[in-house]
Amino acid sequence: MWDLARRAKDLVSCSEGKLMRKPLASRRGSKRELLRIEGRAVEVTMRLNPRARRLIVKVHPSTGEVTVVAPSQRALDRALDFARGETPWIARQLARIPQPIRLVPGARIPFQGIERTVLRGERGNGPVWQDEAGNLRVSGREEFVPRRVLDFLKREARKALEVRSREYALLLGTKPSHIAVRDTASRWGSCSASRSISYSWRLILAPAFVFDYVVAHEVAHLRELNHGPRFWKLVRSLVPDIDAPQVWLRKNGAALHRYAARKQA
Ligand SMILES: [Zn+2]
Repeated sequence: MWDLARRAKDLVSCSEGKLMRKPLASRRGSKRELLRIEGRAVEVTMRLNPRARRLIVKVHPSTGEVTVVAPSQRALDRALDFARGETPWIARQLARIPQPIRLVPGARIPFQGIERTVLRGERGNGPVWQDEAGNLRVSGREEFVPRRVLDFLKREARKALEVRSREYALLLGTKPSHIAVRDTASRWGSCSASRSISYSWRLILAPAFVFDYVVAHEVAHLRELNHGPRFWKLVRSLVPDIDAPQVWLRKNGAALHRYAARKQA
């Protein structure tokens, strides 16, 4: 999670080529409650955003995250009731979300954009490794397999993202202050005014040209914290094609959110 100091400074960041301003709300301006929807307890995040015109409820199309945005503190106090009134709509949106793919033996997952199968195994240096065919082998007890695969993917993501970020930053004669890898629902990457870059670990599931583009995009923000012509020139100096990866993310990005270690409630 963002700490308060960083959050306050982090007014400008971006994702997938859009400039976004973070909500002006502080932590006090956001809260979470559980809402009963068709017998399930669904977590609802309520956020204050003075730029909103009215109460709006949103359901993230891939993660199922339910958010209510409120234009004022007064509206924020009514946010849960508002969401309750929208329960049938929320239930319909949740029903449309593709089933999560658990990281159990037999699961097919795209690792660096190539379909691999999770298989059991009893050798290797760590609990998870790639065999000669490129499949992911996992040792140890069956019930720990999903967690181990998830840890492996996050670790590989962190390594690859750090290496590529530093490499691109060097080419642009700059350096990030910090690189964070998280499980963000709505952004593949973001770069703050304090030169801190944050990525989604799920980029390790995407093909290399997509992975490289997101890194190039965020690293270029270290030099240009905007989306002007100079910014895009920097991105193009790092990756040859910026259109194909953007199209790929729009088409396939949501599907990368399906992979999960746990069964969702
Ligand atoms: Zn950007």
